[in-house]
Amino acid sequence: MQSINIITLAFLLTFVGRHTHKELHKNEIVLKKPVAVKSASKKYLSDEIVNIKIFSQIKTQAFTFSAEEGIYSIWANGNEITSTSKFPIIKLSYVNDSIEIKTFENVIGRFKRVKISSVEPLKAFRFKLIAPERKPRFYQDNLIVDVEAGNLKCINEITLDNYIAGVVQAESGRRSYQEFYKVQAILARTFALSHLQKHGAEGFGLCDHTHCQAYFGKTTELEIMKAVAETKGKVVVDDNLNLIEAAFHSNSGGQTVNSEDVWGSKLSYLRSVNDTFSTKMPNAKWERKMAKEDWLSYLKLKHNYPIQDSNARWLAINFKQDSRKAYLEANNKKIPLRNIRTDLQLKSTFFTIIPQGDTLVFKGRGFGHGVGMCQEGAMRMAKLGYKYPEVINFYYQKTQLIDLHKLNFFKEE
Ligand SMILES: [Zn+2]
Repeated sequence: MQSINIITLAFLLTFVGRHTHKELHKNEIVLKKPVAVKSASKKYLSDEIVNIKIFSQIKTQAFTFSAEEGIYSIWANGNEITSTSKFPIIKLSYVNDSIEIKTFENVIGRFKRVKISSVEPLKAFRFKLIAPERKPRFYQDNLIVDVEAGNLKCINEITLDNYIAGVVQAESGRRSYQEFYKVQAILARTFALSHLQKHGAEGFGLCDHTHCQAYFGKTTELEIMKAVAETKGKVVVDDNLNLIEAAFHSNSGGQTVNSEDVWGSKLSYLRSVNDTFSTKMPNAKWERKMAKEDWLSYLKLKHNYPIQDSNARWLAINFKQDSRKAYLEANNKKIPLRNIRTDLQLKSTFFTIIPQGDTLVFKGRGFGHGVGMCQEGAMRMAKLGYKYPEVINFYYQKTQLIDLHKLNFFKEE
């Protein structure tokens, strides 16, 4: 165990919170095992139903539900207890370890589990949190409400591609290129299918936070809907026909990173590539200034770096990266740059230090962990006319795009 003393802690705290970055996305998934999919015989359906916990970071006490498209029935204990054709707005609240359902006129009852579903092909609802208050969001398909640890647990039961479209908008924003949307749709589908039961022990599949994939409800972009439909059933697999860990980041700074330099596990398709597409994009460069003494005491206190040694000290304040390195090294002491990035909340590990008197200027490149696809580089490729298979093969080398039905066929024994 490494002990953290109070000075270190205070030092680190001054950095945390001062620099909050607006990153295009934060899919900083943690890879623990080198193989993403454990069961080789698992079959995937292109119209799989997924269960996404919505407002997963919020302790939901009450919300209102209303239909946007279609008519919804409210089910509890196996019975239809009301429908949106009778009551256009219903309120669901946590009361005495139950879900209380109310209309404008009366309390309908209290239940342990409620399902709100529609049999119509086009169905969407408005979900408005009122305790705590949040802006309304719009979702497709069905809603399941459970009671969990003093709160309501709300799960959107939705077809895979409706969910994927919502993820593409949340992770890559609006008004981008069609080929870029196709790439994001394929990656989001690959991720979703390889993590269908990521939260299985908690009674749902994926959460709507960046821990899994950001998802704020249905897409509003026609171009995203088209990109999802045109890539229906397409996923990315490695040599062993396993779905890949579809890691991506905002900007590589000109070179992506080997997976083991960030997560410790080496994946054949997450290799460092030279990425000239990213270098003129908005997040290609950054700069930070730091007092020389702060930098040196951080290295000493947190990593026991030998700053008393003049050579090591010189290396630390003149650290250079022409191409990406994984460590700051001196006298057999290796500090992973990924740890420095996290501790000091730097935009990337790809930085060079220029000393200016008592100040150090960190000149950095890129934004994010650097593994897998660079989103801004992929956007640039799309703008230049590259097609989605070319973008995917550039950032995930030696992988294959495959249709799910072909993948299932290959996996049959
Ligand atoms: Zn999650």
